[in-house]
Amino acid sequence: MAGLTLKHIVKRYGNAEPTLKGIDLDIKDGEFLVLVGPSGCGKSTLLRTIAGLESITEGELFIGDRLVNDVHPKDRDIAMVFQSYALYPHMTIRRNMAFGLEVRKMAKDEIDKLVAEASSMLGLDDFLDKLPKQLSGGQRQRVAMGRAIVRRPKVFLFDEPLSNLDAALRTQMRVEIRRLHKKLKTTIIYVTHDQVEAMTLADRIAVLSGRDKENGTKNAGYLQQVGSPLELFQRPVNKFVAGFIGSPSMNFIDAEIVEKEGKKSVVIDGKHSIALTKECADAVKDGQKVCLGIRPQDVILADKAHPANVQVKVDVIETLGWECHVHYKLGEHPFLAVAEAQKLIGVKDEDEMGLYIAPEVVHLFDLDEHGTAIAHGGGLNNKDASVVEGAKAECEPHFTSLNEVIASVSDSKEDSDSKED
Ligand code: ADP
Repeated sequence: MAGLTLKHIVKRYGNAEPTLKGIDLDIKDGEFLVLVGPSGCGKSTLLRTIAGLESITEGELFIGDRLVNDVHPKDRDIAMVFQSYALYPHMTIRRNMAFGLEVRKMAKDEIDKLVAEASSMLGLDDFLDKLPKQLSGGQRQRVAMGRAIVRRPKVFLFDEPLSNLDAALRTQMRVEIRRLHKKLKTTIIYVTHDQVEAMTLADRIAVLSGRDKENGTKNAGYLQQVGSPLELFQRPVNKFVAGFIGSPSMNFIDAEIVEKEGKKSVVIDGKHSIALTKECADAVKDGQKVCLGIRPQDVILADKAHPANVQVKVDVIETLGWECHVHYKLGEHPFLAVAEAQKLIGVKDEDEMGLYIAPEVVHLFDLDEHGTAIAHGGGLNNKDASVVEGAKAECEPHFTSLNEVIASVSDSKEDSDSKED
């Protein structure tokens, strides 16, 4: 087993602008690191660079203490699992798993032992004498993992391994992969564009930026943030990470800081005023223009305990079963909120509503092109989020655990795919 160190990795194809523009990343021994980012941002390129399938233009790559820039892929002690399974169609499942070891001239009884172990771990014992075409997609993906496991590599690389599977199977395989990691404790680097996979599997998530509408590829190809799923969700370093992690995406609205009688608020269109926690208030000054970020799950329908601080009009309600996505108009701004379906009974399009936004769920960003985070409210259950006196809300408990965060992000592929546009 080994960790990895990436020192300023640059990858350029031909004379084009580099796809990866200087990636610095330390991956600990035994860590499960998930690499996410929009389509085309260079996730596969980075994985292939680590595997040695692509050369490194600049920078240094260490596996453990060994510099491997010029080491052949087969000598890097890495096993890669692809989205396409890449099984040999005319070989049995047993042979598919054993083949890599045969090529390495391992003794037959040792190969049999390793294949038997992997097969039992992955529930493939009944399929060993079958051909890949006789197996389902999920079973074939398990064979692909088995083929990687038998090699006992120092590092596993997974390139969107579950993308070809349907939603139910993806959920099942996600759990199996997590279980496998618990058993093997091998370092894993896992590429996906599926947020739920990222949130549920990762010890840490690394977010890579892609091209964006305003700046094209100028800000693409950089690592934006590396951290635990909860850290990224609650304390994104900039608008890109804030918008990419979490589904549905965070609302962003331009707003202004107003200070009255020593208390600072963030005000939208001069009339909707949200108090600030101490952390936010200390980071801004009266009159400052900011971008306000609010997660759709953090919006509360106003009631006696939560008096409205934002007035909206219902545009469209999407009912998803237990919950609804409510598209409001906040003045001229589109504003999305998630609400319990039961609480919206009788509410119709164009109805005027009052919403309550707690100081603790406010995220403030710079208006510059990087949208750097200025401060975060800290989350409703964050004991450290001391609130400006008088602004503390009597709110229902909010996200306390990663599981709750995960439950709040949608499992639909449509959601994650739509982020790639
Ligand atoms: P992702 O995995 O994030 O979807 P990729 O790593 O596949 O993205 O691709 C990132 C970019 O790198 C692509 O948009 C493309 O411009 C460039 N790229 C990838 N592979 C090659 C290649 N073999 N030759 C030239 N350009 C490439």
